Amino acid sequence: MNAITPDTEIDRVLTAPGLQRVGIVGVPPLRLIDILHRRGVEILDLDAMLVVEDMESTVALLPRVYCAILRTVVLNAMHLDLDAIVLDVGPGKCDGALHVAAVLEDSLPIPILRVINNDRQPFGAPLCRAEMDMTDKFLAITERVKSPEILKNPPPPCRPTAGFWGVPPRDFSILALFPDTTHVYGWTRCMENKTPADAILEARINPAIPTVFFAQSFCAKTALARLLAKKHPHALYLDIDVNTGSSAKAKIQAFLDLSGVEI
Ligand code: SF4
Repeated sequence: MNAITPDTEIDRVLTAPGLQRVGIVGVPPLRLIDILHRRGVEILDLDAMLVVEDMESTVALLPRVYCAILRTVVLNAMHLDLDAIVLDVGPGKCDGALHVAAVLEDSLPIPILRVINNDRQPFGAPLCRAEMDMTDKFLAITERVKSPEILKNPPPPCRPTAGFWGVPPRDFSILALFPDTTHVYGWTRCMENKTPADAILEARINPAIPTVFFAQSFCAKTALARLLAKKHPHALYLDIDVNTGSSAKAKIQAFLDLSGVEI
């Protein structure tokens, strides 16, 4: 239990006849996305909200003190008809994903593949720097996890007026508060760059723009978010659990207003 899956077993599962729908957690190595892509296998990003079900139904499998992303993974896995699940359980994701893999293996009759993504080839992060509605921007970035190809016709970078640092939030409603000229940093940028374990890129910030440092509650990244927020001259640190409450939204709004950011 919890050993990394050997390449031979990964290849056996991902090239098996009849494989139709595979769930992914985090950013699996490009080699695996490429295999699935070439075979026309449907890829479902289990980090995203894919089913409308009660989160409390995961409590029998996962303690409430797990982050909302991993609880969403379990919720999706419980309710979707999948042929296999591939989880990045290395530094590109977190230890929590490794333990979730054990939970899923114990509950589901499908192969659970534990992989480590150490890809280093940078694909760039044009969407993180584009002028674009923030919800659309995050939808586009997270959608790209399913593609092994470089973005065609990338948008030009805009002059940033605000910053968002962090992972794609479980609840995207927070994003509507930011202007289209927000640049995105943190793990989301690593995700678009297809280098999820690039800690140097993850820690990059822009001190010239007011920045919200976001982490999911109960995630180890809260420590990094707080540290970077302390070093940044104009920062707001925020951790949010399953849904964004009105007080968190009010804090972001007040922070951006007081920083003179035009929405
Ligand atoms: S938010 Fe943190 S704890 Fe949750 S899946 Fe992402 S890295 Fe892991």
